[in-house]
Amino acid sequence: MGLDDVGAPVTPEQAILRVIHCLDRAQASAFKAKAFVRALDVVRSTPSNELADRAANDTLTDLDGIGSSTAAVIADALAGRHPAYLAKIEAESQVPITAEGQVYRDALRGDCHLHSTWSDGGAPIEAMAATAIALGHEYMVQTDHSARLTIAHGLNEHRLIEQLDQIEVVNTAIADAGHEFRILAGMEVDILEDGALDLADDMLERLDVVVASVHSKLRMERQQMTERMLMAIASPHVDILGHCTGRMIGKRPPSEFDADYVFAACAQFGTAVEINCRPERLDPPRELIDQAIDYGCWFSIDSDAHATGQLEWQPLGCDRAAERGVPIERIINTLPVDDLLAWTAT
Ligand SMILES: [Zn+2]
Ligand SMILES: [Zn+2]
Repeated sequence: MGLDDVGAPVTPEQAILRVIHCLDRAQASAFKAKAFVRALDVVRSTPSNELADRAANDTLTDLDGIGSSTAAVIADALAGRHPAYLAKIEAESQVPITAEGQVYRDALRGDCHLHSTWSDGGAPIEAMAATAIALGHEYMVQTDHSARLTIAHGLNEHRLIEQLDQIEVVNTAIADAGHEFRILAGMEVDILEDGALDLADDMLERLDVVVASVHSKLRMERQQMTERMLMAIASPHVDILGHCTGRMIGKRPPSEFDADYVFAACAQFGTAVEINCRPERLDPPRELIDQAIDYGCWFSIDSDAHATGQLEWQPLGCDRAAERGVPIERIINTLPVDDLLAWTAT
């Protein structure tokens, strides 16, 4: 999906991208999504006249990587019909939200934590932006991983500088297309074992919004982990504490730290506590959200999306925020973009 064609898909490529988007937001099996990712490659590498001929002769499935479902989507799109499979998956994959959660979702103006193909995300910045625009956002913060997270293809300083240039290019294209939307420069910076940040101060200075997260040595002893987190929270560059416990529901227990110190520090230093919406994280857990509320913390309800469909996961965090009674006026991504930037600047 490009910046100019947010809306009904017309080409086979757009239709397949939209199917992948829906499968992602529904947390469908990776197997199912893979078939469409493969089909996308085939569509992109096959001349359009050949696709048209094959659709007319019913021989699309002779192409390696095209099965009956993907062939039907391609044939429908080429015939100018809204693909039936897409309509079905579109309807089935809606992300549910409670009435209470919807109040929070309606208040959100942006998303402060998301990834692109620059690190371990599945979609380019433009595609993430086009989706965020379609979701009604006014801004998104591009927060790819920092260098230390090599497994996620984290950005070193050189690549971050390149990315900042790219963000400017995309922002210009967005403005030219008439959208009132901005991509803000950010990074999900690793909190190193000693509490230092995985990016030099002068680069941190250049970013609009900095998310700091622990990704390594999650089983560190309680007092050490507390000190490690406090160092990052107290940094004047850090705006948001990402997925604070690092838990993976059913797979990895939460890290141990003194939540009283951590949330007191978040409140004191103006570091927002992220409510991470990823279904396998939903971090912080309920009792920690309650504690953060009691300390008067700021919050940020972020998708941590690694694909366009995952940008639609904010309802999960909104439901959780509503359930625990997070004060809406303490959620930084309800702020208009200039107010958010003023908030992060202090
Ligand atoms: Zn993370
Ligand atoms: Zn992340």
